[in-house]
Amino acid sequence: MNDVCVLGSFMKDLVASAERRPLPGETLHGTGFAEFLGGKGVNQAIAAARMGARTAIVGTIGEDRYGEEFLELLSSNGVDTSWIVRHPSLGTGVGLPLVLPDGGNSIIIVSRANAAITTADVEAAADVLTASKVLSVQLELPVDASHTALRLASTAGVTTILTPAPVGPVDPSLASYVDILVPNEVEAAALTGLDCNDESQVPMIARELAEDWDLRACVVTLGARGAFVLDRIGGFEERIAAHDVDTVDTVGAGDAFCGSLAASLADGAGLVDAVRLANAAGALSTTVNGAADSAPDRVAAAALLT
Ligand code: ADP
Repeated sequence: MNDVCVLGSFMKDLVASAERRPLPGETLHGTGFAEFLGGKGVNQAIAAARMGARTAIVGTIGEDRYGEEFLELLSSNGVDTSWIVRHPSLGTGVGLPLVLPDGGNSIIIVSRANAAITTADVEAAADVLTASKVLSVQLELPVDASHTALRLASTAGVTTILTPAPVGPVDPSLASYVDILVPNEVEAAALTGLDCNDESQVPMIARELAEDWDLRACVVTLGARGAFVLDRIGGFEERIAAHDVDTVDTVGAGDAFCGSLAASLADGAGLVDAVRLANAAGALSTTVNGAADSAPDRVAAAALLT
């Protein structure tokens, strides 16, 4: 039995740094360039594995150089890659993040092979989806694939986590199979129409989502402000402050957070303790450039908590 299974995307990130975002129609000289392996699925799987969870990933890559890079990175982090499907004609997905001097980012993604995953591909992975303690899903794959995975896992009693990213309308049919929703500020605002920048609205946002989705819990990530936890089963709410770290790049912070949350829950931690570890992992991931490779290990995350 695995601890964590992630259904998700593979994105080769080609990252440009610039002083500011280009204006419409403008060509702007960047200040730097780097290549990273990312995609929310990969980032979360590696974050979970680095927290010590036995982790598998389900998804689709191309039969290309980027695909090989992913298999190598995942295997070297101990993630089970045997459920990955290789698409015969579509290339591995790519992401094009723009990183600003303050560490903020904007990202364009081109899904390619990720978009070709079918419900049959997901059903073929039913064994690993249903034999894990926690399933983590995001919205970078076609909704049918996410729906199938969440349904299979939820029906088998697996704890399910959904990161509703990238931001956009969410298929309401997913809701009944989600235990824990983990939106960031932008996603939470888009889903509720409320403003996360207003601290007084954050609890209302979590309550509204928890009610609408009939969730067990809602965890709103608040970037450099930390996170907010609403546990409907335990009947409590808690505001978790962020760690003061030297942030250089926030790409992947939410994924480091979610992967660590999944690993900690699979390890038997209570929700607030799991969020504390995730909050530390998210903070540490911002001190390193990149996405998948910026997730910290358990020792480093635990050290930040002491
Ligand atoms: P996303 O990457 O999805 O936009 P967030 O920006 O909310 O998600 O970051 C996820 C988590 O990572 C936060 O809840 C927090 O725990 C941590 N984090 C992100 N940015 C910082 C930061 N600048 N300082 C400390 N912790 C951070």
